[in-house]
Amino acid sequence: MQRSRATKILATLGPASSTEAAIEALARAGADVFRLNFSHGSHADHAARHAAVRAVEAKLGRPVGILIDLQGPKLRVGTFTNGREEIGQGQQFCFDRDCAAGDRNRVFLPHPEIFAALQPGHHLLIDDGKLRFKVLTVSDQCIATEALVTGVISDRKGVSVPEASLSIAALSPKDRDDLEFGLSLGIDWVALSFVQRAQDVLEAKSLIRGRAAVMAKIEKPQAVDNIASIIEVVDAIMVARGDLGVEMPPEDVPLVQKRLVRLSRDAGKPVVVATQMLESMISTPTPTRAEASDVATAVYDGADAVMLSAESASGAYPVDAVAMMARIVRRTEADPLQRQLMNAVAAQHSANPTDAIGAAINTVSDVLPLGAAVTYTSSGATAQRISRVRPRSPILSLTPNVDVARRLALVWGVSSRVSADAQSIEDIVAIASDAAQAEGLCENGRPLVVAAGVPFGKPGSTNLMRIVWPSEIAAESSTNESQPYQAGAAS
Ligand code: PGA
Ligand code: MN
Repeated sequence: MQRSRATKILATLGPASSTEAAIEALARAGADVFRLNFSHGSHADHAARHAAVRAVEAKLGRPVGILIDLQGPKLRVGTFTNGREEIGQGQQFCFDRDCAAGDRNRVFLPHPEIFAALQPGHHLLIDDGKLRFKVLTVSDQCIATEALVTGVISDRKGVSVPEASLSIAALSPKDRDDLEFGLSLGIDWVALSFVQRAQDVLEAKSLIRGRAAVMAKIEKPQAVDNIASIIEVVDAIMVARGDLGVEMPPEDVPLVQKRLVRLSRDAGKPVVVATQMLESMISTPTPTRAEASDVATAVYDGADAVMLSAESASGAYPVDAVAMMARIVRRTEADPLQRQLMNAVAAQHSANPTDAIGAAINTVSDVLPLGAAVTYTSSGATAQRISRVRPRSPILSLTPNVDVARRLALVWGVSSRVSADAQSIEDIVAIASDAAQAEGLCENGRPLVVAAGVPFGKPGSTNLMRIVWPSEIAAESSTNESQPYQAGAAS
């Protein structure tokens, strides 16, 4: 099945999208990857949604990605005697080490790391920044603050400390438990929340041990500061604008988004733009024009994927939201300006054969309108490297490994098929032609470009590019050695 869209859609599952029928409708409307958000829901909920996605995948016959999103080290205040307190602007308030219920003057803050890291003049934000406190003094026992706005603080509300870098473990005990559970289900991507530094990613990777690819959610100013070293070690990033916008003024978010997309694309790592993209569709069937423009901006920037959160997880119009996102993406990608922008940001090539072939494919697809660029990829790296140059043609990735096919569901312009490796040059052309035909990528009578590495089975050894003419494709017999994804075809 040919996807008429290069930018992928990541849809969060939740109470509004739990049944197999609901998930099938989201997939048919355009969702490429599904997010299981471990900040909400029980393991049983996630296991049921996971099984439903795999059932839908088998039914549709194309690889579908599953991402688990770990809650991360979320900081919270303790509780109040009255459940809540109103705090007035200018009032002094103390965050302390006393686990007794709070009142209008104080509350328990169960995170020693904050006491160690905060300094006078820093800020302490409560409930996504609805309440802001300025730190006056810090002792071992009490962080004395002044309220900068009037508002309500209540039990277990979230805390952020934008100016301080906390020496807090990247994964909480709950995260570790959720991670093992997710891995036992078999998932393709793990997203880490509130990453601060590359070390946080490495810590998670040492637990994951290659069983899933790792995405760092960039939602703290510290992560933005450390972005180069994070991108170096991670497999993908998410511009998590919800929490990013809590610890950073709103006017800084757009430029940070553009910078993160650019850096990630340069590195050839997928980048997801997330949060509030079609926010109003949580409760209305059409988006605001500003939201449509926001989705389009991510597409113009060349992001790999755009994400829906509550819109698909708990809103009233989950399928409409995915369909609307797909419409905006397709419309934007059809704009000649979008193509100009993709070409204007030319990728810097590294001196290796894969990048040389990627550069060649990009040029060929500008000169010759192609049906597809077909790549053989065992680890997915070749397909990602070719996607990185954002060629004009669709990229069809053939891989023997279903896990790789599923991971690539997130990658710009790539559709995948599980396929046996070719054994000879003739095989390379025959299998690629059959696969492209089966995906409906030859119907326009255009040639294909095929990239492969000979001998087969050595990752990163792409060294061959072949143009395949329509007459050659037609001459191919139907000895079809590639197949659409089949459930249980591989581990
Ligand atoms: P969340 O992450 O939905 O898990 O909070 C995304 C964001 O913060 O934007
Ligand atoms: Mn977040």
